[in-house]
Amino acid sequence: MAFNPESRLDQLWKEYSLVFNDFDDLTLARWLAQTLGQLEGRVWRLSHPLMGAYRLAAQLAHQRQVWLKRLATPPASYAESPCCRAPMLPLLSRDVRESGLICQHCNEALAPFDEIPEPLRTELEGWAAQYAPVHSVAHWDDRQRKSAGSYDQAYEKAGDEAEQLLSRVGREIMPKFLEFYPAAVWEDQDECLAVQPEDIEL
Ligand SMILES: [Zn+2]
Repeated sequence: MAFNPESRLDQLWKEYSLVFNDFDDLTLARWLAQTLGQLEGRVWRLSHPLMGAYRLAAQLAHQRQVWLKRLATPPASYAESPCCRAPMLPLLSRDVRESGLICQHCNEALAPFDEIPEPLRTELEGWAAQYAPVHSVAHWDDRQRKSAGSYDQAYEKAGDEAEQLLSRVGREIMPKFLEFYPAAVWEDQDECLAVQPEDIEL
């Protein structure tokens, strides 16, 4: 999720983020702390506009080390993250097996896979094992594509399966995060399979 200067979409998000540059550290810290209160108690699609705004502000706050300055107090239910000491707000991505849960403030691992609390970890392991072969269709080499007969059909089918699996994670697994975290975010798209947030019904 690093910034890609070639990407028009990344450029657009950079433009969106400019509004937060006008916030001084205290205003930014208060905005984040208050918004965390509004995020609390729910799971969020990554595509949700409020989450998009929060992530922009959070990344700027990370650059300015706002949480270390203790200018505002986040809601008490948010523990401090081990990665950057910001309040814990984990993102579940399809790469959870490799990357763990991702911190929405510093983009590092908030919890490596092996440290995800049980029984959540076992459930995510099963889900990721189902998702990986579906996702890999997008990255088949020529030989694999030829052996599939119609690659378009295989790609289409993988997209449909990804939609189902992402819908299941949003519906069934994400609510269980709330037993361990005050709020959590899940990646509701798969750009390699052309699956958009609006394709994923809950
Ligand atoms: Zn962090």
